[in-house]
Amino acid sequence: MIEMQDVYKKYPNGIMAANGMNIKIRQGEFVYVVGPSGAGKSTFIKMMYREEKPTKGTIIVDGINLANLKNKRVPYIRRQIGVVFQDFKLLPTLTVYENVAFALEVIEEHPKNIKKRVMEVLELVRLKHKVRMLPTELSGGEQQRVSIARSIINRPKVVIADEPTGNLDPETSWDIMSIFEEINTRGTTVVMATHNKEIVNTLKHRVVAIENGRIVRDEQRGDYGYED
Ligand code: ADP
Repeated sequence: MIEMQDVYKKYPNGIMAANGMNIKIRQGEFVYVVGPSGAGKSTFIKMMYREEKPTKGTIIVDGINLANLKNKRVPYIRRQIGVVFQDFKLLPTLTVYENVAFALEVIEEHPKNIKKRVMEVLELVRLKHKVRMLPTELSGGEQQRVSIARSIINRPKVVIADEPTGNLDPETSWDIMSIFEEINTRGTTVVMATHNKEIVNTLKHRVVAIENGRIVRDEQRGDYGYED
C-alpha cells in the first residue's frame, strides 16, 4: 500500500529531516509514528501525501510514485488519501455539512449522492445532529470528528493523521481513537503520528519510531517507548 525506499529529505535550510527511510505498510495496517519533537515524524507523514517532496528516493502510495508525480496530478492523489491534522483545518465559514461535502462538490458528484455519502460519514462520526452548525459552534472533539468525516468522504484506502489528539483532552482523545479504530476495522490503512503514550500502549498496533530522520524501531504491537 505504502512503500518508501531510501528516502532522503533535505530542507532548503540544510536540515536533513529524512535520512534514508525504508518502510512497507500493507493495506489495512494501523501504524503509529512516534519519536521526539523534531525527529522527522511530520516530514515522514507529509511525504506520504505529497505535501513535501523527497530530495531522493521512492515513495509509492497505492501504486503511484509520489517522488516523481507531476504537480498537476497532486490534487488527484490527494483525493485517494485522507488527511487529518492536529488543528482540524476546517473551513470556518462553512457548516459541518459543507465542510464534509466540499471534496465531493469539487469533483462534481451528483447532489443526491453527495447528500447520501455526507450523512453516511457523519453517522460514522456520530455528528448527524450537528450538520447545520459552524465549526466555531463545536467543541474541539466535535471539530476533529468533522475533519475525520471529511478525510474519508472519498473512501480513501489510507488515512494519514498528524497528532490528531494533540489538542484534545484525554477523554475526547479516546473518543477520537474509537473512530480511527472503526475506520481501520473497515479495511482502511491508518498511519498516525502521535505523542500519546497511553493510547499507543493500550490500543496496540504497529509502532514505527523515528529519530534524527531515521526509522530506529519498527514493531508489531509495539510500545510507545518514550517517557513524555
Ligand atoms: P517532528 O514532526 O518529529 O517534530 P519534523 O518533521 O516537523 O519533526 O521536523 C524534522 C526537522 O526538520 C526539524 O529539525 C525541523 O526543524 C525541520 N523542518 C521541518 N519542516 C521544515 C521546513 N519546512 N523547513 C525547514 N526545516 C524544517
